[in-house]
Amino acid sequence: MDQGFLARMEQSLLDMKQSIISKIMVNNSDFKAITEGMTPKDVVDTASDDIDRELIGTLSSQDIKQLRLIESALTRVQQGKYGLCIKCGKNIPEGRLEAIPYALMCVECKTLEERKNR
Ligand SMILES: [Zn+2]
Repeated sequence: MDQGFLARMEQSLLDMKQSIISKIMVNNSDFKAITEGMTPKDVVDTASDDIDRELIGTLSSQDIKQLRLIESALTRVQQGKYGLCIKCGKNIPEGRLEAIPYALMCVECKTLEERKNR
């Protein structure tokens, strides 16, 4: 994969993560209390590895879901596997990654997965 593209996707993921966390901080007083005095960047670092259990309790499931996807994608970047489908190992098209930087599956596998879960 093109290194410039990879760097751009990694930056989008970090930006998305930061904006979710900032949004949570604005909307959630518990979260705000826990992270009081931290800058959004500190919070991102704190929340990095596995998001702190105490913080998880204060988050909406939608936000957690998205943060987890973003985390997984960032891990894939570090492992040098970003852009490869976690199911079939095929390359995920760059257009799809641009639309959804945290996409972990190709369209085919994602579709199968969604059908299975329905
Ligand atoms: Zn696939």
